[in-house]
Amino acid sequence: MISYGKQSIFDEDIEEVVKVLKSDFLTQGSTITLFENDLKNKFGSNYCSVVSNGTAALHLSGLVLGWRPEDIILTSPISFIATANCIIYSGATPDFVDIDPISYTIDPNHLEDKIKTYRSGGKSVKAVIGVDYAGHPCDWKSLREIANKYDLQLVNDNCHALGAAYYGDKKYATKYADIVTQSFHPVKHFTTGEGGSIMTNNEELDDKIKILRTHGITKPKDNKKENIQPWIYEMHNLGFNYRITDFQCALGISQLKKLDKFIAKRREISAIYDSSLKDIENFIIPKVDVNSSHAFHLYPLQILFNEISISKTDLFKNFKDYGIALQVHYIPIHLQPFYVKNYGFSVGDFPIAENFYNNAISLPIFYDLSREELRYVIDKLKTINK
Ligand SMILES: *Cc1c(COP(=O)(O)O)cnc(C)c1O
Repeated sequence: MISYGKQSIFDEDIEEVVKVLKSDFLTQGSTITLFENDLKNKFGSNYCSVVSNGTAALHLSGLVLGWRPEDIILTSPISFIATANCIIYSGATPDFVDIDPISYTIDPNHLEDKIKTYRSGGKSVKAVIGVDYAGHPCDWKSLREIANKYDLQLVNDNCHALGAAYYGDKKYATKYADIVTQSFHPVKHFTTGEGGSIMTNNEELDDKIKILRTHGITKPKDNKKENIQPWIYEMHNLGFNYRITDFQCALGISQLKKLDKFIAKRREISAIYDSSLKDIENFIIPKVDVNSSHAFHLYPLQILFNEISISKTDLFKNFKDYGIALQVHYIPIHLQPFYVKNYGFSVGDFPIAENFYNNAISLPIFYDLSREELRYVIDKLKTINK
């Protein structure tokens, strides 16, 4: 079965993991810091904390940004559910903003309208989580302007876009957002099994993150003083065990070295999809803004199912028989039963996102996808219109 994405693990990756397994520290050792340093260098961030997964990264982001029950936090309905769930973890209220039909990321015009509507009702929006969906950067310049104008915090859920560039800059994420989160799940650009990171240029936020990821435990500030009982540790804030292990970080260090190679291959695949599918009636290939380089975590093809004889359900069934596991990224979050039930969202609330969802399928795209497999997928896609 050809899936939409999977990891590529090399012998040297395994050797690096084994080295750590044979060392004294499986967790809370020095490989953690080495991985954080590599991530800081790669993504141009002053501070980085690695954690157990991308969802933990989002959770801690909301906590250190001080989200509280009276706060409204806005994000895109076209993301993985964790992006919105983290808002609820902090007790704040999630709401959504429709997407731009070209980049499929949060639309700054709709965003500003929404902020104004809340303000005129006497409520204030505390933060926005932009999602660089599929690997296409959001319109971060506009988002930063809006954040400055209305005094909002800006988070980049960057899980899809490691290796993307914005105005030619691969280190764009922490330049615009106050906090950036990443995931190293096996379907993402490179992997640690489970894993994630939080990047920021704000030292105070990073200090808090590092405490909260390990139960909220600190050593007393005056522990250098004589007479202090050396075993003392203190908990001032409620934290979690969101640590990642050293052997996972060893895998991460080794995998990160291959990120550029992984991205180059994804772009090669996407270029072949583009040229093969762009002229097919009722197909809409993903577009890339002139100021962005896409990282192609996903290749979302839109098929205008209203115009053709086959339904999306039947297409999925047929492709499964062909040995191709298609996917859809994503069911709009506001239409998940939990969000409908607890927040009253309904069909029609975010029509551009919903229309995109109705048309979208994610095609296989990953480093080990062979030319023959790619050809096979394309040949099968070409039969749809007939
Ligand atoms: C994968 C992903 C997450 C969650 O990351 P995990 O490591 O699986 O917890 C959050 N947001 C987006 C956009 C993702 O793609």
